[in-house]
Amino acid sequence: MGPMTEPTRKVLLAKPRGYCAGVERAVQAVERALEIYGSPVYVRKQIVHNTHVVRNLEKRGAIFVEETEEVPEGSVVVFSAHGVAPQVRDDARNQGLRTIDATCPLVTKVHMEARRFAAQGYDILLIGHEGHEEVIGTTGEAPANIHLVDGPGESSSVEVRDPSKVAWLSQTTLSVDETKETVAALREQFPQLIDPPSDDICYATQNRQTAVKQIGRDCDLVIVVGSTNSSNSVRLVEVARDAGAQAAYLVDDASAVEPGWLDGVATIGLTSGASVPEDLVAGVLDRLA
Ligand code: SF4
Repeated sequence: MGPMTEPTRKVLLAKPRGYCAGVERAVQAVERALEIYGSPVYVRKQIVHNTHVVRNLEKRGAIFVEETEEVPEGSVVVFSAHGVAPQVRDDARNQGLRTIDATCPLVTKVHMEARRFAAQGYDILLIGHEGHEEVIGTTGEAPANIHLVDGPGESSSVEVRDPSKVAWLSQTTLSVDETKETVAALREQFPQLIDPPSDDICYATQNRQTAVKQIGRDCDLVIVVGSTNSSNSVRLVEVARDAGAQAAYLVDDASAVEPGWLDGVATIGLTSGASVPEDLVAGVLDRLA
């Protein structure tokens, strides 16, 4: 956290913020593919959930598609940081595509946990957001065993084959506190519930939440730079509010900062999601200045 003073208002910068190692690696995978194979390189889904990153790669010759069937035979396709179901890999192989896997290793770890629990006959309660790409990919590892639990309110509707053989896993980018609540609710229902071997919520998600919690309680306003489909960025807004910030907003870039937000505000917190390049944060700082 570096306090930056100006005459009337103070900005507290959260640290850490922005790019995580998994995002950096995924973006580099596309850049390197463009260098080696030349344009076009296809990317299945947004490589990371950030509008600006996607637009920049598009300018350099990447073509973003929803499914591999849109990719011409023999082309190169990159799988995004959020991971894919095994079926997607099989389809790409059958289509004769050359694939580059940019799945974050911390997502792959969750896939491996899902496979292992499923092989041992467990029902798996996957805590995550319905429709999120990572959740779809993880579920694809063991569709018959995995049940999605989208928050503490959904714990009571889960049905399993054998309540004595249940494990939970989670999406990597959830709220740490809310996930604890969800697990507690699930455990009430399934006292023999087994934990994952290690945290599924990744270190980048966790330490960005810890940092925004620290500044949030001292802020009248917290601005989180990130795109609306970025799970970890949206969580930072919620965590800032829970920590005591009077208001917290998500912005894609400086142009989305509304002057009215600053009325009567003395201390502003600023952070960014794990898929956000630092120049976007610098842009917001400039605008605030
Ligand atoms: Fe990997 Fe976490 Fe970054 Fe996602 S947010 S890419 S899981 S390190």
